[in-house]
Formats: sequence, structure tokens, C-alpha cells
Amino acid sequence: IIKIENLLKQFGNNVVLNDFNLDLHKGENLVVMGKSGSGKSVMIKCIVGLENYDKGSIKVNNYEIKSLNRKDLDALRTEIGFLFQGSALYDSMSVRENLEFPLRRHQKKRDQHVNLEALVIEALENVGLVNAIDLMPSELSGGMKRRIALARTLILKPSIILYDEPTSGLDPITSKEIIQLMKSIQKKYNTSSIIITHDLDCAKAIANRIILLIDGKNYAEGTFEELQSSNDVKIKAFFK
Ligand code: ATP
Ligand code: MG
Repeated sequence: IIKIENLLKQFGNNVVLNDFNLDLHKGENLVVMGKSGSGKSVMIKCIVGLENYDKGSIKVNNYEIKSLNRKDLDALRTEIGFLFQGSALYDSMSVRENLEFPLRRHQKKRDQHVNLEALVIEALENVGLVNAIDLMPSELSGGMKRRIALARTLILKPSIILYDEPTSGLDPITSKEIIQLMKSIQKKYNTSSIIITHDLDCAKAIANRIILLIDGKNYAEGTFEELQSSNDVKIKAFFK
């Protein structure tokens, strides 16, 4: 349902992605690993139209992202949930307001009489934090922030979720909880996901398939076990 072909992306002379390819199948958890600065975040920003790409093709449900107008891109974004690197909550807004934000933004295309509160509570139930509804982000721990960000990602009931380092900066126990949450979300909503991570536990727990991004292109692809047992020096470096 996402197909990236021969993607080229550069910032000035800095060629970040060079002939990158990716194919996400329905219901799949596809993990992308790569060094810091290898272009992972840029790649998923291209998928949701937050960055332009210079050459190649990105199709989501067979629509070429580049050729969509603002309105169509906006509609597509209700289909794709994006968990930003870090948690990226609005610090001046309460949890409730953070979750209402995407609903209000996309409300025009939805039922005018939609009950915002019911949707916010449902999303918070999914992450076990209904009690936090009236707290401010500054009152939340890192793990709670990540859960709230995840609830915000879920609120438009996306069929595809893009996770940018969902467990980074969290302790091992909280990371495990987030991974469990990602799994239960997939089960409940039958989502397909691209997960960017450096976290081997996360990759092992969730990946149906892993792509290693090196020098702007797919260097290797396989299951966790396949890549972990590889003798290739560059691949081995990721599994230490
Ligand atoms: P990390 O694991 O640290 O998050 P990453 O793989 O996500 O790294 P990106 O954020 O995708 O890396 O950045 C890839 C490259 O693109 C870096 O060299 C970065 O400096 C460059 N880059 C990213 N965004 C921009 C931008 N808006 N303008 C110019 N260069 C950028
Ligand atoms: Mg990144």
C-alpha cells in the first residue's frame, strides 16, 4: 500500500536518499534501520508530503504523492498516522486540546456533529491514560508523553502508521510497554506500519521485515533473524 521507487532526495549538494526503494504490504510491520543522519526521517516525511523529493516515485494506495493537490494530500493525511521523532506535543495545550487538534483540523470532511470528547476518550483508552485528559504536557513523564502522542496519532483512525523512533529516549521497561501498545493497536485496527528504529528489541519484537538504509539506498533486507545472522560487516554493525 506504500510503494517507493528510485527515490532521490537532496538538500543542496547533500544527497540524502539515492535510489531508495520500499514496498509496504497490507498488515505488515516494516522496520527501517540506518545510521543517524542516513535520511530515515526525511524518507517518511516525503511519504506524507512534508518534504518534496527530487526524483523517483512514492505511491500511497496507488496515488503519486507528488501529483496530489493540497486538498487530496490533506485527505490522505487522515489515512496516515505519523508519530513524530520525540513526542512533539504542543506544550501550551492540554492533553485534551492536543488530541482535539487533528480532529478540528480535519473536521470539515467529517460529521459536523461529531462528539470530540468521545473520540478523545476512546483514543486515550487505547493508551491507558484517560485520567491524564486535563493535564498539561509539562506534567507528564517521557513515557506518558509518548503514549499521548500515540493517542493523537490514532485519533483519526489511520490505516497506515509511520513511527519515527517510537522508543527512543525511554527506559527499557517503558519501551516494552510502547512496543506492546504498538502491537495491540495493530491488532485492533489492522494497521500497516513503517517503523524507524535503532532499538534492536523493538525491531525484533515487531518487524515482519527489516530494510537497512546505508548510503541513501537499501543495503539489505530480511527478517530480524536473517539479518542478525549475516556475515556482512556493515550489517553486523547494526546487530551489536
Ligand atoms: P536520526 O537517526 O538522527 O534521526 P535520520 O536518519 O532520521 O537521523 P534525517 O533527519 O532524515 O536523518 O536527515 C538526513 C540528512 O538530511 C541529514 O544530513 C540532515 O542534515 C539533512 N536534512 C534533514 N532535513 C533537512 C532540511 N530541512 N534541510 C537541510 N538538510 C536537512
Ligand atoms: Mg530521524
